[in-house]
Amino acid sequence: MTTPRVYNFNAGPAILPIEVLEHIQAGFMEFGGMSILEISHRSKEFDAIIDESRALLTELMAIPADYDVLFLQGGASLQFAMVPLNFLATSADYVITGHWSKAALKEAKHIGATNVIYTAEEGGFKRTPRANEITPTKGADYCHITTNNTIYGTEYQELPDTGSVPLIGDMSSDIMATAIDVKKFACIYAGAQKNLGPSGITVVILRRDLIAKRARDLPAFLTYATHAEAKSLYNTPPVFAVWALMHVLRWVKKQGGAAAIEKMNREKSKLIYDVLDASTFYKGHADRDSRSIMNLTFTLPSDELTEKFVVEAKKRQMVGIKGHRSVGGIRASMYNAFPLEGARVLATFMKEFERSA
Ligand SMILES: *Cc1c(COP(=O)(O)O)cnc(C)c1O
Repeated sequence: MTTPRVYNFNAGPAILPIEVLEHIQAGFMEFGGMSILEISHRSKEFDAIIDESRALLTELMAIPADYDVLFLQGGASLQFAMVPLNFLATSADYVITGHWSKAALKEAKHIGATNVIYTAEEGGFKRTPRANEITPTKGADYCHITTNNTIYGTEYQELPDTGSVPLIGDMSSDIMATAIDVKKFACIYAGAQKNLGPSGITVVILRRDLIAKRARDLPAFLTYATHAEAKSLYNTPPVFAVWALMHVLRWVKKQGGAAAIEKMNREKSKLIYDVLDASTFYKGHADRDSRSIMNLTFTLPSDELTEKFVVEAKKRQMVGIKGHRSVGGIRASMYNAFPLEGARVLATFMKEFERSA
């Protein structure tokens, strides 16, 4: 690389571990006189790659044996539609905690009846519900939640207990960020481009009894069972993205797994939240008891100061830190690959900036 690496706070696609990028660069052409972009998805080389990716994800998330792991395309956005297409027969519960849960709900409304059983919209999406605030509708086909709200910077601190109603989670921005109990979910899905790899691949973890439950007759591609039966090789998968994902998962394992990653993420986010808590200049967007350890959102006293903050941060090699237009202010996305050192640099800069303002 000719340009030095920056502190990349992009919300997604996002930072990947430098070791992974180096492995990708070094291994790119090493497929028997071909590159990873040129091999068959039916080759034994690719079989080994997709098998290792599935095995590593299963190991690192402790996914029980009655679940399938699927590698699909179309991002989380296609899952917003595939979930109701496959599972919504009577009605489905939606918990609205931000932009992405609203997007998921909007798609489900095309398919069938929905119940909004909780919304944080009135307060400006500053919080996530406690477990006791979620009561699923009797007989609902599933309950959909967004575990981390990428734009607002809120995250579930405890998962709801939905009893016999299957819990489905969009974990696009916090998959593998904490050690979770997969058994609490019937389905987890995540676009890979925030914590697991490049864009173009979506991970879906699905309990098998749910796969069997088909709410309606659908085209093959939109049916989970198609992809489960074909072991994610129904059509040409994103070969490069699966390979990159495998390298990211190897890196997670080398770090000590999800628990070690979680510890690091908590340490990184604490550095920033400690600055917010000691300040009257910065104002955190999320309520304290709902804060995300992935996307840290806060505002400054004026738009001019926010603009200046972004410009000054860039001079210190910090990029991608401007908040989403719907919240304003600053959003520091510090995904798994984001280094502790970068969080220290931001915390120090925040204190300096406040003193000089
Ligand atoms: C980024 C994001 C999405 C959108 O994902 P795509 O892969 O672009 O469809 C959905 N949900 C959450 C929580 C996200 O962070």
